Amino acid sequence: MRGGLKKNMMTFESIIGQEKPIGLLSRMIEKDRIPHALLFTGIDGIGRQTTAKTLAMALNCLRPEGVLACGECRSCRKVISGNHPDIIIVKPSGAFIKIDQVRDVRRQLRFAPLEGNCRAIIVNDAHNMKTEAANAMLKILEEPPDATIIILTATQTMDLLPTIVSRCHHIPFRPIPFEKITGVLVARGRLDREAAGTVAILAKGSLGKALAADVKKWMAWRTGLLEGIGSISTESIQPLFAFADALARDKDRLEDALAMITVWFRDVLMCKVYPEKVVNRDFMDDIERASKKRSIDQILEKITAVFSAQTAIWRNSNPRLTLEVMMMRLYEQSELKCLK
Ligand SMILES: [Zn+2]
Repeated sequence: MRGGLKKNMMTFESIIGQEKPIGLLSRMIEKDRIPHALLFTGIDGIGRQTTAKTLAMALNCLRPEGVLACGECRSCRKVISGNHPDIIIVKPSGAFIKIDQVRDVRRQLRFAPLEGNCRAIIVNDAHNMKTEAANAMLKILEEPPDATIIILTATQTMDLLPTIVSRCHHIPFRPIPFEKITGVLVARGRLDREAAGTVAILAKGSLGKALAADVKKWMAWRTGLLEGIGSISTESIQPLFAFADALARDKDRLEDALAMITVWFRDVLMCKVYPEKVVNRDFMDDIERASKKRSIDQILEKITAVFSAQTAIWRNSNPRLTLEVMMMRLYEQSELKCLK
């Protein structure tokens, strides 16, 4: 009977790659021990907001099937269509969640839920609350109203007031494994495994980002990058510096470029043991050649060099200098033709 629901992607079963949070929430429902405030953290596009709405639906369903909402009753239909009067969603208005929005929630909380068993206040991107709004939210959390669950979503706990975090039951949502994202993209058609694999890498664990990707644009950029890596002559260090410089200039895509370079070396390594697991299969000849020339230790050293650069850039080091150091490490370790 849940066919309609599945289409709406609003069952715990349909939330992909978040078995641990879903397991925790299901046990809470089973034992009827729902904390009055939950905090879901993680990157965008991994199911935090969908899970919050799905939980609210399960708690209000008139004919629940175990821990799952039926998807068909009056209450479920209202949640699915976004018209349930007791499911209140607060999201940034412009760049921030403003004090007035939180005040409005407090006003509504003075009254009992209109028709549901459990009113749910879902605060999306709670890290975007300005100080005043955050303090007002803290007041709500300090005096939790009856029959109400407050679910905050944020990227990480450190972006919120510690006093807010300490009043919530924290459930971290992890990036979705690469293989799962690839599987979803292939299952939904149009993308072959190669393109799906590349999109999954660049989505860095966010299914939302993968599904919204401009695949043509991403593939063209990635092919250019891998051809660039492959065509660098390592007879001299100069082309490597030029490549580092080009990467550093494309600031918006630097993180993605380093992720692709890491996967390139991962492929070179994989080629030795599980060649069927190589992601960039359209570059298989180059990958095989590079793999045969290197020992596992040598390849691991290169992956470490790229990881170090990623960490340094994440810590705000100068990108160009960091990339030059990375290239020198790649160059020194292999002496010649390290990238191809
Ligand atoms: Zn229902």
